[in-house]
Amino acid sequence: NLTGKTALVTGSTSGIGLGIALKLAEAGADLILNGFGDASAALAEVGRHGRKVGHHGADVSDPAQIAELFAYAERDFGGVDILVNNAGIQHVAPVEEFPVERWDAIIAINLSSAFHTTRLALPGMRQRGWGRIINIASVHGLVGSEQKAAYVAAKHGLVGLTKVVALETATTPITCNAICPGWVLTPLVQQQIDERARESGDEQQARHDLLAEKQPSLDFVTPAQLGAMALFLCSEAGDQVRGAAWNMDGGWAAR
Ligand code: NAD
Repeated sequence: NLTGKTALVTGSTSGIGLGIALKLAEAGADLILNGFGDASAALAEVGRHGRKVGHHGADVSDPAQIAELFAYAERDFGGVDILVNNAGIQHVAPVEEFPVERWDAIIAINLSSAFHTTRLALPGMRQRGWGRIINIASVHGLVGSEQKAAYVAAKHGLVGLTKVVALETATTPITCNAICPGWVLTPLVQQQIDERARESGDEQQARHDLLAEKQPSLDFVTPAQLGAMALFLCSEAGDQVRGAAWNMDGGWAAR
């Protein structure tokens, strides 16, 4: 039961972040949503669970805006007990053609943002004597794929950061872990299906081929399933799960 706890989920106006926010609100947590676009649908959906919910539109590629997000969390919610670093972007290109500004953006959003949120969240967690940090990495935090240099580098980096933070909090009631999803059908993945379908003209086939290449189950992971895993990490049963990188990937990393 997470009643009395406040969760901040970055990038939670859609996709996986929203799925995790919903599970945490269902379990009783107050929620701070973050992310671009119109947040009203996400606010209404999470609000249905009857908990306090707010949204802050910080661009997590900017450390100054992350500091503003934490000032808001402190002021309006009394701090962050559960930090879910989820905001992330993708770009697909071979390394020698990879746009330099896309590399920088992916490292900033998918990796550096978690360093900034973590350093700002930890003092309050230590003070209140409890905390959970959950980094949404990827199966690409464990294995590589062609054309995803920045993403794979950032996600491997995020798994590394997870281990260090877990060690630095090992004797405290604060845990830090990573979750490593395989394909989840969100806007981020739909974009990649659309790109494939533009070449073949067949969206169903593009979707099947995308799964068949990597995900032995031939089925997508869902945001709700990832939310349930996050909820487990927040429970007492998760107290001694520390520095782990848990995949939920339909068998991807088993190959
Ligand atoms: P999504 O595109 O549906 O959602 C991304 C969210 O991040 C949105 O709310 C967006 O507004 C927000 N966001 C993007 N840039 C931001 C920024 N600079 N500042 C603040 N918010 C920002 O993507 P998703 O598929 O739900 O991905 C969520 C996380 O899960 C990412 O870290 C992604 O790498 C990871 N992931 C996704 C999959 C997948 O198959 N979809 C697999 C493994 C890991």
